[in-house]
This record gives sequence, C-alpha cells and structure tokens, in this order.
Amino acid sequence: MNRLIDRLSAEHVLPRTDFVQLISAFAPETASYAAECARKTAQAVFGNKIYIRGLIELSNFCRNDCYYCGIRRSNRKAQRYRLEKEEILQCAAEGYALGFRTFVLQGGEDGYYTTERMADIVSSIKRQHPDCAVTLSVGEQTRETYQAYFDAGADRYLLRHETADEAHYSRLHPAELSGAHRKQCLRWLKEIGFQTGSGFMVGSPFQTAENLADDLLFLADLQPEMIGIGPFIPHHDTPFAQMPQGSVELTLFLLSLLRLMFPDVLLPATTALGTLDPVGREKGILAGANVVMPNLSPQAVRSKYMLYDNKLATGAESAQHIADLRARFAKIGYEIQIDRGDSPRVKTLN
Ligand code: SAM
Repeated sequence: MNRLIDRLSAEHVLPRTDFVQLISAFAPETASYAAECARKTAQAVFGNKIYIRGLIELSNFCRNDCYYCGIRRSNRKAQRYRLEKEEILQCAAEGYALGFRTFVLQGGEDGYYTTERMADIVSSIKRQHPDCAVTLSVGEQTRETYQAYFDAGADRYLLRHETADEAHYSRLHPAELSGAHRKQCLRWLKEIGFQTGSGFMVGSPFQTAENLADDLLFLADLQPEMIGIGPFIPHHDTPFAQMPQGSVELTLFLLSLLRLMFPDVLLPATTALGTLDPVGREKGILAGANVVMPNLSPQAVRSKYMLYDNKLATGAESAQHIADLRARFAKIGYEIQIDRGDSPRVKTLN
C-alpha cells in the first residue's frame, strides 16, 4: 500500500481502482505512512503555520430537507434563529480584535437573506475590515446571486458536493435536490472567480469505498482551492438518527490522501473531527490539514446551530479561546498565523 501512497505523492492522482483499494483495505500502518508524507507536503507549502477562520453561523432556517442535517426544514424541534446585519458586524469586530482575518458566514438556505441583503452584509464587513477575507457558505443559489456576492467583495465560497455519485446523493437528499445541480453551482463559483471549496462527509449513510474514490476523482477534476471533509455524525431528530457515525481514522486517512493530491489546498481540521475526538483538530493537522475554523457566533445561538448531536462550540472550538488553541498547536510544533490565508494559487491585492 505504501507504494500507492508514494505514487499519489508523485502523480497527485490514482486510477479509481487504486483509490478503491487504498480506501477499502484501509490499515493503520498505511494511514500513518500517508500522514507522514502528507505532513511533509503541507509543511513544504505552508511551513508550520495554521490559518484560522472565524465561523459566524448566520441562520439555522433552511428551505432544504437533507436527511442527515439537524437544521433541515422538517425538524420541528429545532429552535430557529437568524442574525441581523448589526449582530454579524459585531461578531466580525470581535473576531478582528482576536486576530481573525477571514470570516466565514455559514447558514441554512434562508430566504430572509435576499441577494441584496447578503451583498450588503458582505460589503459592510469588507468596508469595516478591508484587510480581511469573507467566505460565504449559504448553499445553492443562482449564478446571478453568486455574481452579486462576488461583486460585493466575497472572496471565497464553500459548498460541499456531499457525494459525487448521483444515486448516493438521492439517498441522502429528497428528490427536489440533485447532485448535478450542486456540481453546476460549484462550476459557476469557479467561473466567477471565487476561491471555491467543496468536500463531503466521511461515513455518510450508504457510502461505499467506490463512492469515496469518486469523490476524490470529482475533486481532482474540479480543482478546488479549499476542501472540507468531516465524519458524518447522526442527529437524533433526523431520519438518520440511528445510522452509525463516520470513522475518525478514515477521515484522517482521507485528509492525508487529499493533501497528497492537492499540495497547496486549504484543508481544515473540521469541527466534526473535533467533536468525535478531543484531539481531533491536532490529529487533523498531523494528517495534513492546515486550517481551523473556531466559532465566532454569538454565545446565545451556538447551541441552536446543531447540525449533528454534541456539536462542539466551546473550549478550543470557541474563537474566544484562541489562546487555548495556540497552546495546543504549539505542543505539536505548529503556530497560528494572523493572516487572510488565501489560497497560494490566488494573488490578492490587499
Ligand atoms: N447550507 C449550506 C450548504 O448546504 O452548503 C451550509 C450549511 S450545511 C449545514 C454545512 C455542511 O454541514 C454540509 O455541507 C454537510 O456536509 C455538513 N453536515 C450537515 N449535517 C451533518 C452531519 N449530520 N454530520 C456531519 N456533517 C454534517
């Protein structure tokens, strides 16, 4: 298996059958070899620096009904909230003082945020903090709306493709949503000029090694600037409440494979990884990740943006405890960088 890892390091992609073999014959020795190679690759591009992003969870209203997600529209028990512009600006100001230079605005697909309203929020943040980047993650929109966000100053957009396989996609989502449309959105985002992020859950219900291989190949084709992956974690008020959670080990292995495929990609150690393992973030970094996204949402709403059970929003997951995070990373030889942390592929004027 180490031979396949060496080949991936050199060629950055493998034939589908080799990816399937690596994933299905997943073994700890292969994972630790892959992590070692991935760590070296990340260090060659980013040194021992970790980028931080302040995550502002705008709203948990959502028009969609994804079977895995705790804020799906059919979950009558979710306590809904949305943030007004002034609250968002306040979060950004607090984050700026803490050293954040990227703000990620994430939320359900909430019609309250019309194109104009969202564009106004983005341009207001950029006016207040011209040296910061704004990342949006508000789902599937029209091409015109994405363009308006970009024109308002948004720099990056996160939209996980979730699964590249159409049949698998339809087992995770109701028929009104399609994987083909989600992929179309990703292509629009790239064309418009966003630093674009995609990704998937590891261990989502019904997922096979072939599905994961196809996810890697889809990403090889898309060439995103950012990739977000994390283990699937069930939420008790969703149709997938009884499904098993994804594996931390397999997530770490896939982070390593992704780093070898995309040496300069922005790759977060996600909250879901930190939720399943108290040192998940550190393990993610040691497997090749180079980004973390602590929570900057107002304290009062954090427990309401509950995508899955026990989602972390306190301790080192909280932007206010950045010193904690700094100390944890120092222990493994890494340093937090105060910087926008753009993709090395993009030259920005700031
Ligand atoms: N609405 C936007 C969108 O669709 O991209 C952003 C918010 S959505 C909740 C963000 C991500 O959360 C999804 O892309 C999905 O991969 C992840 N997610 C949702 N439910 C999850 C679960 N039960 N376990 C792990 N990740 C989950």
